[in-house]
Amino acid sequence: MFVDKAKIKIKAGNGGDGAVSFHREKYVASGGPDGGNGGKGGDVIFVADDNFSSLIDFRYKRKYVAKNGENGGAKRCTGKSADDLIIRVPRGTVIRDAQSGRIMADISSDEPQVIARGGRGGKGNMNFASSTRQIPRFAKPGYPGEEYEVTLELKLIADVGLVGFPNVGKSTLISSVSAAKPKIANYHFTTLTPVLGVVKIDEERSFVMADIPGLIEGASDGVGLGHEFLRHVERCRLIVHVVDASGIEGRDPIEDFNIINSELENFSEELAQCPQILAANKCDMADEEQIERVRRFAEENDMPFFAISAATTQGTRELINIIAQELEKLPPVKAYEPEPISQEELEERALSNTRFEIEIEDGIYYVDAKWLEPIMRTINIDDYSSLQYFQQVLRRSGIIDKLEEMGVEEGATVNIMGFEFDYVR
Ligand code: GDP
Ligand code: MG
Repeated sequence: MFVDKAKIKIKAGNGGDGAVSFHREKYVASGGPDGGNGGKGGDVIFVADDNFSSLIDFRYKRKYVAKNGENGGAKRCTGKSADDLIIRVPRGTVIRDAQSGRIMADISSDEPQVIARGGRGGKGNMNFASSTRQIPRFAKPGYPGEEYEVTLELKLIADVGLVGFPNVGKSTLISSVSAAKPKIANYHFTTLTPVLGVVKIDEERSFVMADIPGLIEGASDGVGLGHEFLRHVERCRLIVHVVDASGIEGRDPIEDFNIINSELENFSEELAQCPQILAANKCDMADEEQIERVRRFAEENDMPFFAISAATTQGTRELINIIAQELEKLPPVKAYEPEPISQEELEERALSNTRFEIEIEDGIYYVDAKWLEPIMRTINIDDYSSLQYFQQVLRRSGIIDKLEEMGVEEGATVNIMGFEFDYVR
């Protein structure tokens, strides 16, 4: 089965916690703090791998979690940073943040790309000794690793895409001009997997051609009308639009051409703007009049035209030479630029899912809010602005309102996920 879309969860590793420890030595009364820092959590990194051609593996395994950094130790020992988690995907995979739909990366070069960053390690108490605080009995916890739900979408990388109705001879054409061997049959549902073929012009020049399932091919197999496959020609620099000039299928080539083009337009305005070459195929069986009619149509529409026979290879050499010439004038294969998600937005997102429960036990208000944990890890209770931020979070999430509603009084003890403080209005 060819799978070109998947949705998975990825989570980078948390940073290790800093250690609290004091130097001990025989005959030395009290040593200084020597708790080391935590190690960094592993990143989640995506890399293109040409051994993969589909996203099928991601249908079975949907959660990918990198390891956490190790905690710091005594004697200034820094915790070991965790190894990164490398996820291999077929070249041309576009990664999007599922929640916003925004592009995070286009894995089409050899460059590995970090998609979820591991958390930094927390600082050990060795960092917190100062003239006024000689015995720091605290250390910082590690920072949480980033976590995303992402969609993977394979968009093949090809210079030229073949489009056209089923049975017009697209697969025959790619197999006659390249080493690609797609299934060919006088039968409408043959090509169910996009096929790439390298077309060699001469020693130096070559280009990549993509044969995608026709627009209504695959309908019987539940892949819809085949529009899904159009994503595989979205990066193409040039489209070769193949029509059947022989009429053996009882279709009209010009009508077919218009139908396909309006399908392209429905799929994407940009794809409809892609330059096209019109190839009238099966000319070995077509009458001259019909070929001329299609030729005139191409001229009227300012399109290069070729009468070919993919089966006998008549005219295919000329066609690929012109394709190579046209490609020289066109911009390179499209790459998708990432649309970064800002820090504010990530925080906003963390706050948008702020369910909490408050219970009173022995006069203490216990606030249970799992989502607050990562935020609390980054709060420095010694720092005024950090504390203010924390208060803002409590206010915006409605926790303060709820406490007031429950009758919290000045000076009452509030316990938020283990962190206790006195309530001050
Ligand atoms: P696709 O669905 O567009 O990929 O079409 P195929 O390449 O599978 O071809 C469909 C049918 O048309 C097959 O039976 C081919 O042998 C036949 N065919 C393809 N090209 C030609 C051609 O140039 N001349 C003739 N006579 N038949 C062809
Ligand atoms: Mg085919």
